[in-house]
Amino acid sequence: MTRRTLEDALSWSAAGTELFHRAVAGWGEEQYLAPSGLPGWSRKHLVAHVAANADALCNLVRWAATGEKTPMYSSPAQRDADIAAGATRTAAELTTSLHESAERLAVGVAALGPAQWRSEVVTAQGRTVPATEIPWLRSREACVHAVDLAAGVTFADLPAGFLTALAGDIVAKRGATAGLALTLTAAGDRWELPGAGDPVTLTGPLTEVVAYLAGRPHALTTADGSPAPALPAWL
Ligand code: ZN
Repeated sequence: MTRRTLEDALSWSAAGTELFHRAVAGWGEEQYLAPSGLPGWSRKHLVAHVAANADALCNLVRWAATGEKTPMYSSPAQRDADIAAGATRTAAELTTSLHESAERLAVGVAALGPAQWRSEVVTAQGRTVPATEIPWLRSREACVHAVDLAAGVTFADLPAGFLTALAGDIVAKRGATAGLALTLTAAGDRWELPGAGDPVTLTGPLTEVVAYLAGRPHALTTADGSPAPALPAWL
């Protein structure tokens, strides 16, 4: 698994947030109402989700800072209801909420001390992790959803170190659940997914390998040019 430092994650989170904010800058209702790259979600849904994610991660920052248990979301149903409600807000409200939530998160993160960074919090998926995972969770959301905005940002715009770390993270999380024996290689790196059946080898640019692993549109094919096997959803 790829090693990543807290400094890496902080810089990727900042880069992803910047890309995301630049992509939506100046958007009015028309641009916001266009579909995102995620099935069934307009860009309004996606921006509402990314703003709500920053606030949810602020809850984890508070948990790390104070020791008081403050989960990301009160429930999965509440999380979904908040996204649906967020999608009814105006373009201006969404842009403001995007910026303000990102700012709250940046301020909260900047105030954490060394002992607080080591304290444990629980993610929305129920994993217990040190607070140092918070910037990694944010970089994943900001970077991948910047691509999902369907506004010209591609995986090639994301930091290369982030892409390598993300490939390792997804492979580790998918584990055997993909059900396919897969070997992926890109730019000197290699990832193995265990599974049944004849092993399939896929080789391509890092950007395509990551897009494939993340379940996003990609151009990865097997050596004989047939389409890469479909993977179950990730996240
Ligand atoms: Zn998300």
